[in-house]
Amino acid sequence: KKTLRLILGDQLNTNHSWFRETKPETVYVLMEMMQEQTYVKHHIQKILAFFAAMRNFAYQLQKAGHEVIYLKLNDRENEQTLTGNLQKIIDKRSIQQFEYLLPDEYRLDQQLKSFCKSLNIQTKAYDTEHFFTSREEVGDFFSGKKQLIMESFYRHMRQKHDLLMNGNEPVGGLWNYDPDNRNRYDSKVPLPESLSFNHDLGEIKKMIDAMQVPYFGNVEAKKVALPLSRKEGLKLIDYFCQNLLPHFGTYEDAMLQEHASLFHSRLSFALNVKLISPKEVVNQAISYWQYNQKQISLPQIEGFVRQILGWREYMRGLYWNKMPEFAEKNFFNHQAKLPEWFWTGETKMNCLKHCIGQSLNLAWAHHIQRLMVIGNFALLSGSNPDEVDAWYLGVYIDAMQWVQLPNTRGMSQFADGGIVGTKPYVASAAYINKMSNYCGSCFYDKNKKYGEKACPYNSLYWDFFFRNEHLLADNQRLKLIYGNLHRLKPEDLEKILEQAETYKKQVDEL
Ligand code: FAD
Ligand code: SF4
Repeated sequence: KKTLRLILGDQLNTNHSWFRETKPETVYVLMEMMQEQTYVKHHIQKILAFFAAMRNFAYQLQKAGHEVIYLKLNDRENEQTLTGNLQKIIDKRSIQQFEYLLPDEYRLDQQLKSFCKSLNIQTKAYDTEHFFTSREEVGDFFSGKKQLIMESFYRHMRQKHDLLMNGNEPVGGLWNYDPDNRNRYDSKVPLPESLSFNHDLGEIKKMIDAMQVPYFGNVEAKKVALPLSRKEGLKLIDYFCQNLLPHFGTYEDAMLQEHASLFHSRLSFALNVKLISPKEVVNQAISYWQYNQKQISLPQIEGFVRQILGWREYMRGLYWNKMPEFAEKNFFNHQAKLPEWFWTGETKMNCLKHCIGQSLNLAWAHHIQRLMVIGNFALLSGSNPDEVDAWYLGVYIDAMQWVQLPNTRGMSQFADGGIVGTKPYVASAAYINKMSNYCGSCFYDKNKKYGEKACPYNSLYWDFFFRNEHLLADNQRLKLIYGNLHRLKPEDLEKILEQAETYKKQVDEL
């Protein structure tokens, strides 16, 4: 049967069983399309990275003997929508069967399902063979439970996949070494160089500009430094194991003005477009650790495995369990616009200047920068989660909705009212100062809650808890904070709240 097989831009898995043999009656299609450039405004490096990775993947498939249709954004034939292009190919080539890989995004899943219904040929959907879990597995695991605690799912995954296990017990006796992994960078070990891949994407950039694709962010000399092929992805895994894993856990939460990525792997783009698989990353890291236990302590590898086997799979499962309602949640009914400087990085707050500036320059920031600097400020200042989502989904090179949304709306903005996190991730300057060297050279004074040059995080922090007391006071994990709030002198509290009000009104000038 003449069969058309669709490969979406984030389904670049060469090891998929589809590609095990070449079949003359099967044709694959990959397409660059305006539809995917306009549902949110993307960072230019994200668009470049996707197109370059897709083009390379199509080339590799062709080299392996498969028939591939590749639609470039500026092809005259391009209808610019998924279903428009598919329908055209199906008609033109008299296709008898249409097959696709299950999309990771709800919107595309719906679009493909309804497209299949409209067809009068056979259709079939296949698993992407990428994740440890199926779409439903996390939902099934938590079925009937009120709270979806990541830690219990993670322990189940360790047992199920026999990773870092000693029979039924976790290696080393503990499941979680998080308490060991919260250090400020202390210069005890040299900072690693980050491994950069220098693709010149000038041609693609030219096409994007000629087609007037909307975008934001910067791209230095038309270059994207992350792996865009499987070969490069594998190189980065090796580099990570040898150079970064030995200190990954220790400095996982640390931030440094002079070094964007510290000991983070920067594997997220390659993982999310499926150039590499979470199983190979986890297995390779564990086996590297096993042979190098003298240099690499258990908390390093446990911390890393938890991110991929735990958080990544958990977020995905939660997405499928809670969509589409999750995308509408706004627990605090926050309505403020994001400050203008989210698009320029031009703020006097040094931590935000660096974290946002870095996001605009690299289309990448690490977890604590996303959570405890940028997301923290967005939440404390009452930003509308729709705006926050759109920014995160656009700016990060690894942002696909299945992972961005639960992280942003759930973990970071607590807009789900406590499904992902058990309490809001907010902090004042004390935390940012503890984990980074941003405060030392800041215009604002990290120690002041109000008055001239008082750090905005401090007043906004207390203002947040004060105005949301009716929603948060019953949360056991916040008892201590509410105790502290109630112990503030009334005249101090008044000044703090006034200061927060002023800052919220002038947020663009901060
Ligand atoms: P490392 O620190 O080296 O971690 C290794 C891998 O673990 C990552 O590549 C990633 O695949 C996985 N991982 C770690 N933390 C998480 C997590 N919380 N959820 C899912 N996977 C995780 N990650 C994305 O891939 N896409 C996003 O759009 C995204 N948006 C985020 C938004 C917010 C507000 C927050 C707080 C986090 C977000 N994350 C997102 C998670 C995390 O910040 C990134 O995965 C990480 O920074 C990518 O860099 P890395 O590959 O060096 O990660
Ligand atoms: Fe950020 Fe406040 Fe520290 Fe400045 S003083 S870097 S605004 S936390």
